[in-house]
Amino acid sequence: MSKTYAAPSSIPVGVDPSRASIARVYDAALGGKDNYEIDREVLAQVRTVAPEVNDLAWSNRNFLTRAVRFLTDQGAVRQFIDCGSGLPTAENTHQIAQRVAKDARVIYVDNDPVVIAHGEALLTENDYTHFVSADIFRPQEVLGSDLVRRHIDFSKPVGLLQVGTLHHYTADDGRDLMREYVEALPAGSFVAISHFFDPETPEHSALARKMEEVFVHSPMGSGMFRTREQLAEFMPGLDLVPPGPGKTPDWELSDLWWPDGPKLRPLNQVERCSAAAVGRKP
Ligand code: SAM
Repeated sequence: MSKTYAAPSSIPVGVDPSRASIARVYDAALGGKDNYEIDREVLAQVRTVAPEVNDLAWSNRNFLTRAVRFLTDQGAVRQFIDCGSGLPTAENTHQIAQRVAKDARVIYVDNDPVVIAHGEALLTENDYTHFVSADIFRPQEVLGSDLVRRHIDFSKPVGLLQVGTLHHYTADDGRDLMREYVEALPAGSFVAISHFFDPETPEHSALARKMEEVFVHSPMGSGMFRTREQLAEFMPGLDLVPPGPGKTPDWELSDLWWPDGPKLRPLNQVERCSAAAVGRKP
């Protein structure tokens, strides 16, 4: 029996225009059109302490692209569970994976009604993509759903994505939560995460704490900036995949530019407050 974990987003925000939603705020930061005034107000509040906040969203989305491409191409993964899929964007997980392997399967999971409506219409565009409405912080709800059981073969490697999601999980038992997912995956599976990051330098910690303060007290209600040690908790029993040759196996998005080549400009302050990692189940 799955234990119940704590996150404000486990109660979906609905379509109430007076309440901000994580998916719509993120959509606004990416320059999308599926957001309300209240969502744009959250971003405006964050911008007062972090003017480059849109770059936080883009560095996250770019990581998703790289991670899915890497897992499909170099990791030979042919089935993905994309937890917290968000609103459809130009490059969604199935488009990235199916460019490498036409038969790659993707199960998208989200609990936001706007995402569910758009996701069912736009993300399930072929027989290999499906959408599940479930709470990603209740692993058994996801793993036990009909579509996951029907379309994911747990005897073959799975790519589990928690990209831009776990910072909305507020309790400190994230290790148990992720262990439930990892235990269900066969050897050779991968987990990719990205997360708001406190780099623990005086300058960047102060910025991370300010952004956290705004997110948590905004109508969106969550957004934790965790340290490297705290993030390691989300990868129980996994071997971290190092970035490409010549780069250090650092967690910061800054060092995960594989396989796109070198950075073309220095990272700004806000981009330094985001971390990502890919782990492989031995
Ligand atoms: N993964 C995408 C990406 O990185 O581009 C979207 C990230 S978006 C910031 C986070 C998504 O997680 C939102 O669509 C939100 O609705 C979803 N989410 C947050 N908490 C959730 C929960 N408890 N259950 C299901 N989905 C959740």
